[in-house]
Amino acid sequence: MDRHGIGMTSQRTRERLIQRLMEQGITDYSVLETIRSTPRHLFVDEALAHRAYEDTALPIGWNQTISQPYIVARMTELAIAEGKPEKVLEIGSGSGYQTAVLSPLVGEIYAIERIKGLFDRSRQRVRNLRLRNVQLRHADGLGGWADKGPFDVILCAAAPEHVPDILMQQLTPNGRLIMPVGGRQQELVVVTHSSEGPEVLSIEPVKFVPMLAGTER
Ligand code: SAH
Repeated sequence: MDRHGIGMTSQRTRERLIQRLMEQGITDYSVLETIRSTPRHLFVDEALAHRAYEDTALPIGWNQTISQPYIVARMTELAIAEGKPEKVLEIGSGSGYQTAVLSPLVGEIYAIERIKGLFDRSRQRVRNLRLRNVQLRHADGLGGWADKGPFDVILCAAAPEHVPDILMQQLTPNGRLIMPVGGRQQELVVVTHSSEGPEVLSIEPVKFVPMLAGTER
């Protein structure tokens, strides 16, 4: 280990991560730039910090994982694909990493996490990183956040079996719901309103934790 420790290591490994994301088809420069400058090692336990810039999900306790950088990049790209969304609802904010990546690219973020322990830690990170456009809430995200809606984008990091109707109702008319759906077989989808009801566009197969009802300590 050189005397610069993690700082030096992460600089090199961060570049390698950006390379990998580009190879996998992430093309939006602002997304790549934000991932490059977001300190993912602060969103995992110290014991895992040396693996923070690998393109993998990692455990964050309570049986949950911090999302893989590729999927965070892909969902962020989708979130800003139609221009800068003014209001975003994020469900399943977990470590807060996706929240931090979205923060410089959107207007306001309302983020919900159902596990209190994860919520407390992510709130501390949001404070430390001075993400001033983020409001966090410990609640069951399946109900959305009606008081703060409607949202231009709703983004979920946990998979329900079907697209929840309540969330569709909290979208603006041109709003987009970006989420994994399904059980053992999941698909990342973008759902929009059309005159005939919800229109579902499939993006790619994914593997997320299930969306669970209720809250936990
Ligand atoms: N993007 C986050 C992903 C965390 S994993 C990160 O990178 O850290 C998905 C998260 O969704 C978990 O923290 C889980 O507790 C949460 N979750 C599952 N169902 C939920 C629900 N109904 N409401 C709010 N959060 C939920």
